[in-house]
Amino acid sequence: MPAEKVFWQDPYCTELTANITSVEGDVITLDRTIFYAVSGGQDSDAGTIGGCSVKEARKDGAEIFYTLEGPHAFTAGDEVSVVIDWDRRYRLMRLHFAAEIVLELVYRNFNNPAKIGANIHQDKARLDFVWDGNISEAFVLIEQQANKLISDDHPIRSEFSDPDKERRYWEIEGFARVSCGGTHIRTTGEVGVITLKRKNIGKGKERIEISLME
Ligand SMILES: [Zn+2]
Repeated sequence: MPAEKVFWQDPYCTELTANITSVEGDVITLDRTIFYAVSGGQDSDAGTIGGCSVKEARKDGAEIFYTLEGPHAFTAGDEVSVVIDWDRRYRLMRLHFAAEIVLELVYRNFNNPAKIGANIHQDKARLDFVWDGNISEAFVLIEQQANKLISDDHPIRSEFSDPDKERRYWEIEGFARVSCGGTHIRTTGEVGVITLKRKNIGKGKERIEISLME
């Protein structure tokens, strides 16, 4: 049985007791976890398992493999405490949702331009598009609409569309329903004020960099 993903049921949980289900050298698996592994462009969490720093969290199929830093004496069945760096995760969740909103607004205002990249790091998120011209010409409109959605503080619902395949979505009633397996905040207001910056990344390609004001 792959780890139960408690980060989906409760993305605000910062500490969890779990059991180790396998150990292979410095790589372990757990029966349940709050420690997100990089996917969908969202960076992995940082934190500890049983007091050991996690060097890497990697999702393979439905299982998450954690590579521990330094020596350990764990064996399968051990009970451990899983602790995540909440400041980092919360910034990732806020930036992730800022990127969700901006992406959706770019799609609907500019006739679904092709997205060719996306990334959510702790300090900023980026979205890359096939785009002729200067994408910053769209920023007044996008920022205005995004900041309105944020200040209206809409509830965000996150659910499974297909639990067996671990397919999930988020939904804001009256705005959008989008497939995504990331961790999501509860309301749009949590994002706070965002700013956009343009980067040209080659002919016919434009990047939007999204930052949080605080
Ligand atoms: Zn998402």
